Amino acid sequence: MLPQRILMGPGPSDVSPEVLQAMAQPCIGHLDPEFVSFMDEVNTLLRKTFLTENAVTLPISAPGSAGMECAFVNLLEAGDKVVIAINGVFGMRMVENAKRCGAVPIALEFEWGTPVDPDKIESALKENPDTVALAFVHAETSTGVRSDAQALAALANKYNCLSIVDAVTSLGGIELRVDDWGIDAIYSGTQKCLSAPPGLSPVSFNAAAMHRVKKRKHDPQSWFLDLNLLTGYWGAGAKRAYHHTAPVNTLYALHAALTQLHSEGLENSWARHASNYAKLRDGLQQLGLEYVVDEEYRLPELNAIKVPEGVNEAGVRSHLLEQHNLEIGAGLGPMAGKIWRIGLMGSSCTERHVDLCLSALAEGIENNKS
Ligand SMILES: *Cc1c(COP(=O)(O)O)cnc(C)c1O
Repeated sequence: MLPQRILMGPGPSDVSPEVLQAMAQPCIGHLDPEFVSFMDEVNTLLRKTFLTENAVTLPISAPGSAGMECAFVNLLEAGDKVVIAINGVFGMRMVENAKRCGAVPIALEFEWGTPVDPDKIESALKENPDTVALAFVHAETSTGVRSDAQALAALANKYNCLSIVDAVTSLGGIELRVDDWGIDAIYSGTQKCLSAPPGLSPVSFNAAAMHRVKKRKHDPQSWFLDLNLLTGYWGAGAKRAYHHTAPVNTLYALHAALTQLHSEGLENSWARHASNYAKLRDGLQQLGLEYVVDEEYRLPELNAIKVPEGVNEAGVRSHLLEQHNLEIGAGLGPMAGKIWRIGLMGSSCTERHVDLCLSALAEGIENNKS
């Protein structure tokens, strides 16, 4: 048996007993008539979560990275210009994806720990009127920064290009309104603020995005992520033609997690993330710990904290894991060894988690001073 942990890192987050129980239901065929109506429910729940009416709203059968790849391979063709905002690890991955599509990324870099600056994006879009898409990360999990997705999507609309939005860590945790904000293509993941197990990537594409997919000159290089094929199985009113075997039991879990989310209420979930963040922030301040990000741009669900001078970063994390079964995250890339990342995502976002984390952290730091 693997140990039971308390997950307060950058994902996965704690999966509730109800969701785990849903996963233990008997596996049925992915084309069973009963499963087909269950799929409709999953799509409806996802639309309610993204706040969209988009017909093409479905879970990709792979984690968040596949949602990213799905957006890039379907919307971009060789030679297409794409403006990509980089303010952490995941913006860098977008550039990798664009290159592999043969697209031409115009990468704009922002200091890690700061949000994407809409003015700089606007200048780039003005200078490159043939830009096909603007891609950015709403909630940058590597640094704990929230960028203004509404303002950035509005710029994409103003300059007549598609927006591609990474909402892996934002969906369910902070305000996100796909239709109201005019977002064209968006992807998320199940194991962050939705608190389902990893392995699925909810995506949503509006009519403008699907128009581009339909009028491509060449098929996307990925057969598995080709939306024209995927919608034959997942699409609203689709014939449910076999494409690949859907991960049936993981979908049971997603259905249960989304049902829990909506029984709480989406806006109540955003409010819970905000209030537990405030509690954690106050406690960290009492411990003398500092945030990486200015208060205004912080993500409640991902708290990037500076490791104090003279404290063994990895030692503290090991202490939490070994003594308290509590997982927090390390820094990535240039922030490795310098920060901790404390997640308050979905089921891991409770007052109890905050209290436990604060007391364990105080003890862990005390035990790891040089
Ligand atoms: C976690 C994450 C991803 C990648 O998701 P995986 O499920 O790990 O593939 C992409 N973008 C952001 C912002 C993330 O936090």
